[in-house]
Amino acid sequence: MKSVPEYFGSQVFDDRVMRSRLSADVYASLRKTIDEGHQLDLSVANSVAEAMKTWAVEKGATHFTHWFQPLTGITAEKHDSFISLSPDGSVIMEFSGKELIKGEPDASSFPSGGLRATFEARGYTAWDPTSYAFIKGKTLCIPTAFCSYGGHALDKKTPLLRSMEALNTQALRILRLFGNTTAKRVVSSVGPEQEYFLITREMYEKRPDLKYTGRTLFGAKPPKGQELDDHYFGAIKPGVAAFMEDLNDELWKLGIMAKTEHNEVAPAQHELAPIYTTTNIATDHNQLTMEIMQKVAARHGLVCLLHEKPFAGVNGSGKHNNWSIATDSGQNLLSPGETPYENAQFLLFLCAVIKAVDDYQDLLRLSVATAGNDHRLGANEAPPAVISMFLGDELEAVMEAIEKDIPYAGSEKTKMKLGVDVLPQFNRDNTDRNRTSPFAFTGNKFEFRMLGSSNSIACANIMLNSAVAESLRIYADRLEGAEDFETTLHEMIRKTIRDHRRIIFNGNGYDESWIKEATEKRGLLNYRTTADCMPHLLDEKNVAMLTGLKVFTEAELYSRRDIMLENYCKSVMIEAGPMVEMARRMIAPAILHYAADVARAAAAKKTISEALPCSCEVRLVEKLSELADQIAERTDELASRLEEVQGIDDIVKQSAAVRDRLLPQMSELRDPCDQAEQLTERSYWPMPTYGEILFSVK
Ligand code: ADP
Ligand code: MG
Repeated sequence: MKSVPEYFGSQVFDDRVMRSRLSADVYASLRKTIDEGHQLDLSVANSVAEAMKTWAVEKGATHFTHWFQPLTGITAEKHDSFISLSPDGSVIMEFSGKELIKGEPDASSFPSGGLRATFEARGYTAWDPTSYAFIKGKTLCIPTAFCSYGGHALDKKTPLLRSMEALNTQALRILRLFGNTTAKRVVSSVGPEQEYFLITREMYEKRPDLKYTGRTLFGAKPPKGQELDDHYFGAIKPGVAAFMEDLNDELWKLGIMAKTEHNEVAPAQHELAPIYTTTNIATDHNQLTMEIMQKVAARHGLVCLLHEKPFAGVNGSGKHNNWSIATDSGQNLLSPGETPYENAQFLLFLCAVIKAVDDYQDLLRLSVATAGNDHRLGANEAPPAVISMFLGDELEAVMEAIEKDIPYAGSEKTKMKLGVDVLPQFNRDNTDRNRTSPFAFTGNKFEFRMLGSSNSIACANIMLNSAVAESLRIYADRLEGAEDFETTLHEMIRKTIRDHRRIIFNGNGYDESWIKEATEKRGLLNYRTTADCMPHLLDEKNVAMLTGLKVFTEAELYSRRDIMLENYCKSVMIEAGPMVEMARRMIAPAILHYAADVARAAAAKKTISEALPCSCEVRLVEKLSELADQIAERTDELASRLEEVQGIDDIVKQSAAVRDRLLPQMSELRDPCDQAEQLTERSYWPMPTYGEILFSVK
C-alpha cells in the first residue's frame, strides 16, 4: 500500500508534475499566468496540452472534458476522447493547445436567463489555469469558465474570478498606501466546512420524497432525536468510518486536503473540513467533494444527503465559509500585526469588511438563498436570516475606544491613536465560539455561516469579495487624495465604526428578542425567504457596485435573478407533486386500512359480547378518520394550488406565489399526515420512519 504522501495529488496535474514535465521556458510562462494572471500564448498552451495528455494517458485516461459550473449549481462536463485519426488510418491520442484553452460544449439546455437565444446556444468554456487539471475516472478534467459568445458569464466561476480580481486591485492600492511595494497579488482564501447526512440506500429507496426531492416531505420526529447531543463528536460507527476512509483517499488523490471529520449534532450527520486554499480552487474542490461524497457513499451501500433540511425537526446541514485575504507572500491581512503600522492596516481591512457586510447585507443574504436553505435559516439551529457580525469582546472594546476616543481598557496607553500606539495583542484562542452569529471573526479570518450544505460556495464569495473590494475602493480613493495620511486614516476608521456599529452583535443570534431589536431598533434587513431577497439583486446600489467593479454586467444580473428565482420555484414545485402523490397513494390508504382493521376488530369483539368495552378502538377510528378527511381535503387543495402556481408566467410573481400559496399548504398537508403516523401501527405505515432512517447506518 502506498502511503498518503505518495499518492496525495496523484491524479492532479499540479506544480510538481508541471515542473517535471514541462520545459523550463514553458513552465516559467505558465507559472506567470497562474501567479499573475497574464494571458497564455498558444505555443505555450500547445506544449502544456501535449504534456497534460501524455501524463493523463499514462494514468489510463482516454477522454478529456472542460469541467464547469453552470447556474444549476452542480458541475457539468461533456467528454471528448483524445482519439484522432492519422492520415494512414491508424488512431493516435491527440490534444491541442486550442482544445485545452477553449471548448464549445453543446450546452444549450443550461439556464442562461435569456442571455443566449437558443439559435446561438453554443456558449464556450475557457481554461482557468489557476485551478489544476485532474483525472476523474478515465477523464482528464480541465477546470473552466463558461461564457456566451457575447462574453456574458453563464456560470459561477467567471464572476468569482472577476470578484477576486476586483479585490486584488483594490487591496493592492491600500497596501501601497501603507508602503508595501513588494506584494504582487492579494487573494482571498476559503476553507469550507461541509455538513452532510449518511443513510442506507435501503431506507432511501423506500422514500419517494427523498428520491425525488432530496428531503423528506413527511415524517414524525424520532423518539430518540438529538436531545441528548450524544452524537456530536461521538464515536464514529464502523460503516461511517469505512466511508470516511474511502472518501479521504479519493479526495487526497485529487489533491483536496480533507483534514477533519467528525459527527455533527444530529444523528447520521457528519462534517468534513479541508485545509483552506485560494477561493476559486476551494470552490472547485468543494464541488468535487460533494460529488465524490455521493459516489463513495454509493459504493458503501449508503446515500449522502446534501439537502439543507432532509428531516424536519432535526438539525439541518450547512456549510461554514471560512474566509480571509492574504498577499502572495502569505501575509494574512485579517491578522493583527506586530507593529503599530501593521495594526492600523489590519484595522482598516477589518473596517472594510464591517462596512461591506452592513452595506451589502442583502447581497450576502441572497447569495445563500435557495428553497432548501430557507428551511434552515432562522430555525434555531442555524443563523437567523438577519445578517450581523460577531467580533468578540476584545476587538469590540478596541472599536469602542477608537470610536469614542476613550482609553482602551486593555492598553496602558491612554488613547488609541493609529500609527502611534501599539494595539493590544489579541489573544487568538480567545476568538470566542459564538456559534449563533452569521458572520463571525475568528482571530484571523471570518466565518460566514449562512451557506446551505448544497450551495456552491461561489455565490457567497462573489458577493463577499466584491463588497469588500468596494469598501477598499472607497477607502483608497480617499486616502490617495489625502494630505495627512494618518489623520485621514484615523478619521475614516472612526467613521466606519460609527456608521456601521449596528451590524455588530455579540449576543445570541437565535434569540427571538434579537430579531426584534435587529429589525425594529437597528433597521437591519430580515429577508426570510428566497422570494423575499432575490429581487433585491437588482436594487440600484447593488447593480451600481457589481457593475462598477466589473464583476457582473447588468444583463448578467437580470439573468441571474431570473435563474435563481426559477431554481427556487422549480425546487418547491418538484416537491409539491410527490407530496400530493404520496398523500393520496401511500399515506391516506395506509390510514384507511388501519382504521378499517381496527373497526373490524371492534365489531368482532361485539360479536363475543355486547358488554365488551370498545371505546379505545372507537376513539382511534374517529381520530384516524378525521385525519384522513383532512388529508384528502388538503391534498386536493395543494394539487389545485400547484396547478395555479405553475400557470404563472412572471417569475417574480410565481416565486411570491410559491412562498404564499404552495409552501404554507404543504405544511398544512404534512401536519395531519405526521399526526396519523404516530397513531398508526407500524406495519401499516408505508415507508421507513425518521427513527429507522436516522439510525440506519451501523
Ligand atoms: P472550526 O473551529 O470552526 O472547525 P478551524 O480552525 O478548524 O475552525 O477551521 C475551519 C476552517 O477554516 C478550515 O477549513 C481551515 O482550513 C479554515 N481556515 C483556517 N485559517 C484560514 C484562513 N486564514 N483563511 C481561510 N480559511 C482558513
Ligand atoms: Mg466552523
